[in-house]
Amino acid sequence: MAAKGDMLYAWTTDSGIAKKAECGGAVTTLLKYALENKIVDVVVAVKKGFDLYDAIPVAITDAKDLDQTAGSLHCGTLLMSTFIQKYLDGAKSMKVGVVVKGCDLMSLIELGKRNEINMNNVLTIGVNCGGSVNPILGRKMIKEKFGVDPDKVTKEEIDKGQFIIEYEGGHKGIKIDDLEDEGFGRRSNCRRCKYKIPRQADLACGNWGVIGDKAGKATFVEVCSDKGADLITKAVGAKKLETSAADPKGIEIRGKTEGAMLKLGEKWRKKDFTALRDNLWETINKETSRCIKCYSCIDKCPVCIQIPFDGRADDIMVRPGFIPSDPMFHLRRFAHISDSCINCGQCEELCPAEIPLALFSHAIRVEADNAFAPKLGAAPYKN
Ligand code: FAD
Ligand code: SF4
Ligand code: SF4
Ligand code: SF4
Repeated sequence: MAAKGDMLYAWTTDSGIAKKAECGGAVTTLLKYALENKIVDVVVAVKKGFDLYDAIPVAITDAKDLDQTAGSLHCGTLLMSTFIQKYLDGAKSMKVGVVVKGCDLMSLIELGKRNEINMNNVLTIGVNCGGSVNPILGRKMIKEKFGVDPDKVTKEEIDKGQFIIEYEGGHKGIKIDDLEDEGFGRRSNCRRCKYKIPRQADLACGNWGVIGDKAGKATFVEVCSDKGADLITKAVGAKKLETSAADPKGIEIRGKTEGAMLKLGEKWRKKDFTALRDNLWETINKETSRCIKCYSCIDKCPVCIQIPFDGRADDIMVRPGFIPSDPMFHLRRFAHISDSCINCGQCEELCPAEIPLALFSHAIRVEADNAFAPKLGAAPYKN
């Protein structure tokens, strides 16, 4: 029987899932079990679209369709919470099982606080996350740095600090640090991210810490809630999943890897924020002068809840139909979202003018939290 706090190795008994899964297939198996047994009404996961660089979110109600979602797509930069908010009634009228990275989870929690999502109806299966890669830059990186046609790649993974590809004719890995020094690798918000193991989820699953004969064949699962423990216990009881206690050496390695990733996140914050500090307004002004007022950054931000704004036509500081946007267009946005910006990167990722918006709001959030949170008796911002 599993309990909150357990550290387990878990692997599927379903040969179809085992073949497609990233490691032990525990994530897909648990979601499938939850759907088959009506613990949830729908599962939200990710599947491959047109190619490896095209990750699409799917809402699945027929358990047999879940097999298509097994495996990790590191060029999948989507956000699961807004999908649930916009298309699944914020889980208000149905129970939703969802696979979440750290940013997905933080945004679910923020939307829960704003009554946009009913978190009581959400089962969260977390996946550790070292970072994701912008799909367009990912293709360019594979062509230019690996010298491989991106369309010939059959699998990509991030392991032991390397971005690794398998392609027709071989496989190749290059150190992420080297790729990032040259502007490739993970998205810039991911480099600064410090939410690597999503412990606010019901279960936190990953490959760090799986060693010995289980390496590559089991999922490391940290049981984070009673709900998560119950799901594992039932899936094992139904013989859908097998588990064993994680190797203590593996637990230690996982802890060290997480620690190294947190240090790396801190290093990137220092680098990015210091560069911004010396020319803050000039940089913001210069970058935002490309804005075409498409409103994507407002529409896609999980902490920005839009309200009808009838006064827009009479607005004094933001002239309707005028581009480049007046400075207040951006200042207003920074003012109301930056205190809860979760650094998910959606604003930046989807800005057609390629303005580094997440950098600005994340810098404001971290600065404000570090300055004020300790004085208010709260823990400094870590994520
Ligand atoms: P599977 O049964 O194969 O299920 C994988 C699940 O992940 C599926 O439900 C699928 O829908 C979902 N998924 C795939 N791509 C995405 C995506 N882009 N966004 C959201 N969900 C997605 N583990 C580590 O220990 N260290 C890491 O550094 C690490 N980095 C990761 C980075 C990314 C971008 C992703 C998506 C995962 C990462 N993982 C990492 C988790 C790891 O790759 C496996 O997902 C995890 O070990 C579960 O394995 P499994 O065989 O049980 O999953
Ligand atoms: Fe992963 Fe963090 Fe990037 Fe989200 S922001 S994809 S959790 S590294
Ligand atoms: Fe995510 Fe950007 Fe909103 Fe911050 S401002 S929460 S990075 S979309
Ligand atoms: Fe302007 Fe970019 Fe926001 Fe569109 S997404 S409104 S171009 S800043």
